[in-house]
Amino acid sequence: MMYALLFTILGFAIMEFSGWFIHKYIMHGPLWNIHKTHHQPSKSFFELNDLFSLLFGSIAVLMIFLGLEGLDYRFWIGMGISFYGMLYFFIHDVLVHRRIKWFERPKNKLLLGIFRAHQAHHATNNKDDAVSFGLFVVPKKYFKSK
Ligand SMILES: [Zn+2]
Ligand SMILES: [Zn+2]
Repeated sequence: MMYALLFTILGFAIMEFSGWFIHKYIMHGPLWNIHKTHHQPSKSFFELNDLFSLLFGSIAVLMIFLGLEGLDYRFWIGMGISFYGMLYFFIHDVLVHRRIKWFERPKNKLLLGIFRAHQAHHATNNKDDAVSFGLFVVPKKYFKSK
């Protein structure tokens, strides 16, 4: 049980860290042409940038399949990545960007901090001057209430 929990948390943490790295150095770098579709108003429901979610989702599915026999660490890392993806979807796509209008602006302090930090990321539509690339791990200042 401890084993499962540990690797699930690890999968989650790897996603936040590698997500931050990929967002900062690759999406706002060589793959900006794909990611910029998320920084511009889009005409359709889907953005080319959604390919990244598809990629991360595929990695999670692959890990779960690889670890399915005996439920080894790969299965639990895959679960952690999936859990991250679901939470990311609800917070980033639904709560912040309102692609589906399920929630209003958050009142909860933690959610509001995450919300503000990601709005700060979108304060610019440029490749080079963006801030706050992680989703959950963001500077403390966004959590201070005003
Ligand atoms: Zn970005
Ligand atoms: Zn966004």
